[in-house]
Parts: sequence; C-alpha cells; structure tokens
Amino acid sequence: MTKVIKTPYYLIDKSKLLRNLERIAYVREHSGAKALLALKCFATWSVFDLMNQYMDGTTSSSLNEVKLGKLKFGGETHAYSVAYADDEIEEVLAHSDKIIFNSISQLQRFADASATHVRGLRLNPQVSSSEFIIADPSRPFSRLGEWDAQKVEQVMDQISGFMIHNNCENSNFELFDSMLGQIEERFGHLLERVEWVSLGGGIHFTGEGYPIDRFCDRLKKFSDRFGVQVYLEPGEAAITMSSSLEVSVLDTLYNGKQLAIVDSSIEAHMLDLLIYRQPAKMEPCDGPHSYMVCGKSCLAGDIFGEFQFDQELKIGDRLSFIDAAGYTMVKKNWFNGVKMPSIAVRQLDGQVELVRQFNFDDFVNSLS
Ligand SMILES: *Cc1c(COP(=O)(O)O)cnc(C)c1O
Repeated sequence: MTKVIKTPYYLIDKSKLLRNLERIAYVREHSGAKALLALKCFATWSVFDLMNQYMDGTTSSSLNEVKLGKLKFGGETHAYSVAYADDEIEEVLAHSDKIIFNSISQLQRFADASATHVRGLRLNPQVSSSEFIIADPSRPFSRLGEWDAQKVEQVMDQISGFMIHNNCENSNFELFDSMLGQIEERFGHLLERVEWVSLGGGIHFTGEGYPIDRFCDRLKKFSDRFGVQVYLEPGEAAITMSSSLEVSVLDTLYNGKQLAIVDSSIEAHMLDLLIYRQPAKMEPCDGPHSYMVCGKSCLAGDIFGEFQFDQELKIGDRLSFIDAAGYTMVKKNWFNGVKMPSIAVRQLDGQVELVRQFNFDDFVNSLS
C-alpha cells in the first residue's frame, strides 16, 4: 500500500504521460519533425527521465529555463526569449545549441556575442487561432516576432532558421493547415533560404481524435517543399490529461448554494484557469448533489467551479481536479500563504512517490 500523502498535492501519472509521449514519438517518426518540450508550460524535472526518451530536447523562454533544459533534460536545447539582457547572453549561449531572437534589434545587439552560434529569428505571420486576445501572438501591435518580410530579408545572412509560434490549443487540423498555408504564401521565399523552421507549440495533436496522420503528412510536405528540418515545441500537448491536483474538503456551507471549501486555491495553484476565466475539471459525474467548490484564499472569486457529486460532501473528503499539469506548477505562488501543494509522481509500476514538499521556510525564502 502506498503511504497516504497529505493534500494538497499535484499528482503526475507517468502512464498517462506516456500516452502523449508515444503520440509525439509517432509524429516524429512519421513526419520527420523533431519535438522539443516547451518548459514554460511544464518544468517538473523529476519526470524528464521519461520524457527525454520520447522527445528531442527542450525550448525555453528565459535564462533559467534554458539552463534547466540543458542540465535536467539534455538533448537539443533551444534558447528563446522575448528579450535578453546584456548580462544573460553568455550563459544563454553556453547552455544552448540554437538561439532564436525575438527581434532584428536583439539579433543585432548580440550579433558579435553569438557570431559562432546557430541563430534564428521569430517570425510573426499575423494569423491567429486564439479566441483569447491575451494569448494571441498575432494580436494588434504584438511584440512577438518580426512580420515584415522585407526587413527580415536584410538579416538572412545572419540566421539559419525561423521560429513561428501562433497556435494556441488549436485542436482543429483544418485551421492549422490553412494557417500554415498562409505562412508559406507570405514567407515562402525566405523559408527556402533556411535550414530549420520551428512551428512552435499550441497544436493539440495528442488530443483524442486529432487526425495525426494528416498532420504528419502536412509537416512532411512543408519540410520537403522548403528543404528544412521542422521542429515542434509542444507544451500542453506533451502533458495534457496526465496530472491532477489532489485536495481535501475543509468546510461546507450553504449560502443559497451548497459550497465546499478545499485546502487549495485556484488563484495560487491553478492560476491559468483564473486568467482565462475557465473552471477546473473533474472526472464527469452527474450525481444529484451540486456544489460550488471554492479555494481557501480570501479572494472572493477563488472558485474552482460547480460540480455534481454522487454523495453529499463532508469535511475530509478527497477531491481531484484533473488535467492539472500544464501552466499550473510553473505558475503556483504563495498568495495568502496557502500551503504549497507537494508534487507526487505515480510511477509506471503504480507506486506513488512523493518527490517534493514545501514548508514554511520555502515561503519565507520566497520573500525577504
Ligand atoms: C507557449 C509556447 C509554446 C508552448 O505552447 P503550448 O500551447 O503549451 O503548446 C511553444 N513555443 C513558444 C515560442 C511558446 O511561446
């Protein structure tokens, strides 16, 4: 029997992770694309020993992430950041195989420092798949990448590749296909002149029912047409549906609705959902007892969502929010001093292992 772990904790299930990883491996094999984990979505390095057997490496958004990727994941390490500071660049280069600059001006600022490095530039094709303006790299006046092909033309001798990230949880293959078509049309003459192109993340190709063979075919055609090595940078797609946030009920009350308060907080432990105004997810249940499940921070809107249960909830009941890997652990914070969830891993043999706990000292050390 596994030891009872105290809630709250994130539970990463390696066998569920494996399902995504096997799909990624399939895409690599059938499309020729390489797959890099986007660390900004998921940086829980204790499962990298499994992930790095199925993926080619990592991509990053900062000096800290590029170092984590190099030191804990291995393989190919791509460095990208919206902007590098002068005192970061040497270390970024030392920990990466490729560096992708967000702007021509960053490329020029670090032209000498990076002269012997493999360099790329982020393109912004100004085509969008997101309904959320906050997550849309193609929003008006976007700072994410260069969009003027004529300007890019002038620095072609300094770069050997491009990165284009403009999908956002896009589960619609037709939309991906048409967006890629627009990219080909607009930047085709430049794509022909580089050796590699990263198509970024945000493509939900590990999801149930995604036409994975058509996707592979499309990537292969793109790669053949321009003679480039294609990279994918899955974040969410690599870890989707692999983890949960395990919590306990601390109190119940009735204020016109049945309410249950749990030992966690959506603001502190699943912040991404709050930003996008989305409810947390539980295993579907259509039982007769309806509860609004709330967090224990003082934020009035600290609400995970409304769920149906088979039985009335009582203090001490365990609840499990599913699909809690992406953009959760990387965004957790000490708001209200709420107890930081531990991190546990269900190994492939079913054993659950507690891999990290946080205590008062961690809270203290996060501030001064
Ligand atoms: C966010 C991001 C990713 C990963 O996106 P997901 O939606 O999590 O797949 C990949 N590449 C870049 C450049 C990103 O900004």
